[in-house]
Amino acid sequence: MSLVLPPSQILVAGAWRDAQDGRRIDVINPSDGAPFATIARGGAADIDAAVRAARAAADGPWGRMPAVERGRLLLRLARAVQDDHETIARLESVDTGKPLRQGRADATALARYFEYYGAAADKLHGETIPFMDGYTVMTFWEPHGVTGHIIPWNYPSQIFGRSVGASLAVGNACVVKPAEDACLAILRIAELAQAAGLPPGALNIVTGYGAEAGAALAAHPGIDHISFTGSPQTGAAVQAAAARNNKPVTMELGGKSPQLVFADADLDAALPFLVNAVIQNAGQTCSAGSRLLIEKPVYERVLDAVGQRFGTLRVGASDMDLDVGPVINQRQQARVQGYLDRAAADGLKPAAQGAMAPNVPPGGYYVLPTLVADVPPAHELAQEEVFGPVLAATVFGSEDEALAIANGTPYGLVASVWTRDGGRQMRLARGLQAGQVFVNNYGAAGGIELPFGGVKRSGFGREKGFEGLYGFAALKTVAIRHG
Ligand code: NAD
Repeated sequence: MSLVLPPSQILVAGAWRDAQDGRRIDVINPSDGAPFATIARGGAADIDAAVRAARAAADGPWGRMPAVERGRLLLRLARAVQDDHETIARLESVDTGKPLRQGRADATALARYFEYYGAAADKLHGETIPFMDGYTVMTFWEPHGVTGHIIPWNYPSQIFGRSVGASLAVGNACVVKPAEDACLAILRIAELAQAAGLPPGALNIVTGYGAEAGAALAAHPGIDHISFTGSPQTGAAVQAAAARNNKPVTMELGGKSPQLVFADADLDAALPFLVNAVIQNAGQTCSAGSRLLIEKPVYERVLDAVGQRFGTLRVGASDMDLDVGPVINQRQQARVQGYLDRAAADGLKPAAQGAMAPNVPPGGYYVLPTLVADVPPAHELAQEEVFGPVLAATVFGSEDEALAIANGTPYGLVASVWTRDGGRQMRLARGLQAGQVFVNNYGAAGGIELPFGGVKRSGFGREKGFEGLYGFAALKTVAIRHG
């Protein structure tokens, strides 16, 4: 199947148009470093037009559409995504460099988000509250109005599904700023949303650079809520911009998530998870399990088994559909390699590495998946988000020490524990500082029903699951004194 390119313009008020100053950005294929398309380079004027269009939609028929109708619309969109599955998967794969089967998994998850939030749209109801005699008190969950969505390049369609799907279900009108490095799948989804009958202005897409379109969106006084997914540094800039307008934000930021392996664990069951948790999407996953903490009696054994798996990993172009694709761009490649080079200079040599497959096109941004052993907990490889296929292994001697190491980073996104001891499962599930804890698994197959988000520098607010709807809604209390 040849690649079907989406519209390469900005979507405002239901019309596709060029950026107001006509500028464009090359789209690079990370697998070979070559440009293969262009997108519009939107700026502040385009964001302003998009916010106005969204406001008109929120104040118009879209804002008055019954919840059940909004839900049906999202369910139609879910069906359209399923019908278009291979096109979206291929766009996502070529644009981000991820192996095709990961692109397909992302397209499946995207459809599921629309299905989940479509079915949830008419179930967000308030309460009545017992109060003083002569009063009736009730609550309503109402849309904010216009929501802004700033999306990273690592999982564009999934992150679009979880934040825009939930926001539309609540009845907001959305302005979306996808990442400049990967936005083709989102443009395709917007085209499908139009065809599914989403009214003009309910969904506006402004492609462009973060410092231009992104900053303009974060600072726009007409935005009522911002959902930001990206790095903690950019998140802080978005928070600061939103704070000047006193606007609420949801921050889905980075992580340095630990995988704790105890000597009593089912090691055979754990093994594939321990590796997949960090190599998926070439390690460019906020919830990547990038730290492997192993109890002393099984340290060598687990390290050996994980190392053997790393040795079998093959790296190649997205359409070769191997274990690991390229990272997103040259800057990211240099960044990941920089971590490995500095670790080696500190005496932390790779314990095991994957290899390039034969016939990989030149010019791509490849990094070999690498296991590094004996990483001290304070080393940058055990503290900072590398965002590449690099697993840092560390030994621990006791449950208390494991917990202290696991919690000893600025992040708190997810954590996993491998043990057969029920008491320890509960103690660690409660003690680990993370938004999600997995016991004897990693990631729960990405379950979109499960609330997700961070503590500490991994962010705040929750997306995914039914909980995800509340972030896009404002609670109104109505108290009626009727005597
Ligand atoms: P990034 O912060 O560089 O960019 C994210 C988005 O912000 C992009 O659309 C970018 O254009 C935009 N942006 C950049 N500068 C901006 C500015 N000044 N104002 C407004 N917007 C701006 O992040 P990235 O490199 O694209 O993504 C990787 C990061 O995202 C990692 O830290 C990863 O952990 C995190 N992430 C978190 C989650 C989560 O759910 N917690 C999910 C995916 C990725």
